[in-house]
Amino acid sequence: MKNYKEEEVIITKQVLISLTCDICKKTIVRDDYVEFQEFICISFTGGYGSIFGDGDTLEIDICQHCFKEKLGEYVRVVYSELGSLLEAYDLGDGE
Ligand SMILES: [Zn+2]
Repeated sequence: MKNYKEEEVIITKQVLISLTCDICKKTIVRDDYVEFQEFICISFTGGYGSIFGDGDTLEIDICQHCFKEKLGEYVRVVYSELGSLLEAYDLGDGE
């Protein structure tokens, strides 16, 4: 059996305070709510046969502006929250 008691402890942890775009190097602080939340942060681990290295974990953080400039032509909209809301409330194009 394990016996516990409550004890106040001080914990130090890392808190994300800003993001820096790996392309344009612009840093966005957390207080810049819109730009901060729209950052695209990609992290993945290459599997067997990966050109990046089997088992290597890679990351890239990109501001929305660079993401659109560099990859916008390849990105697909697969869901539109605004479109769904308009449809749900029959506020679309009036048809
Ligand atoms: Zn950028």
